Amino acid sequence: MDVFATRRFNFSASHRYWREEWSLEQNEAVFGKCTNRYGHGHNYELFVTVAGAVDPITGMVMNMVELKRLVTMVLDQFDHKHLNEDTPYFREVIPTTENLVRVLWGLIEPQLPKGVRLAKLRLYENSDLYAEYFGRQQQATFNRRYEFSAAHRLHAQSLTDEANREIYGKCNNPNGHGHNYQLEVTVDGLIDAQTGMVIDLVDMDRRVQSVLDNWDHRHLDYQVAEFAEQPSTAENIVVVLWQRLEALFGSQLKHLRLWETANNVFDYPLSQH
Ligand SMILES: [Zn+2]
Ligand SMILES: [Zn+2]
Repeated sequence: MDVFATRRFNFSASHRYWREEWSLEQNEAVFGKCTNRYGHGHNYELFVTVAGAVDPITGMVMNMVELKRLVTMVLDQFDHKHLNEDTPYFREVIPTTENLVRVLWGLIEPQLPKGVRLAKLRLYENSDLYAEYFGRQQQATFNRRYEFSAAHRLHAQSLTDEANREIYGKCNNPNGHGHNYQLEVTVDGLIDAQTGMVIDLVDMDRRVQSVLDNWDHRHLDYQVAEFAEQPSTAENIVVVLWQRLEALFGSQLKHLRLWETANNVFDYPLSQH
């Protein structure tokens, strides 16, 4: 049985999204602010997950100090550099998060000791956006975080008022209460050779917001049809959001993670993420 071990790394780099053969208008339509000719930068955060059997003598999948050494060596090429100008990897391809994580895989994977495999790389461009790569050619996942603020009341109509108070406690307050919900949407697909993205970001935002705009600054129980009959628990919310977003994204939609508060998080349909 394999055990999975993950270590976190940081590096900072600048980049620019630009296709020479496209007009300024075309570049700006696809890449927006990222076309700025002098570049812009990010504090990247990389999670490296390795997997393998636990060594019976050392009790380890792999020495984390060794993993730190070899990944840091790889990241030295990127840290405090301009990805387009100072590295050889982005002459033809755009240094999107998807392409960068794929390039990092190609550099880290061959360095791992025998018997240890690279299971996953997750690269955050900022806390609201990451790409994951599993070593499957052009295939990657892309995750973006959205927010909506809404009121609700937890109340099961088939139960007595007393039972509702007992089960839901403060959340049963007749006049409701509210949350800043955060929704992480994960899609997957092939990294487009031209744009370097698995999904058009502007289009993804438009589709997600077409759902969330009807929930934001509303009362879920009164203003979202699905919660007229069933309690607006986070479990029910994440399933309803899945149904609505699946209708817009089809099989490209892979996973939803709903944060009701910083302490309560709900995943659907995958058990772990
Ligand atoms: Zn950027
Ligand atoms: Zn609540």
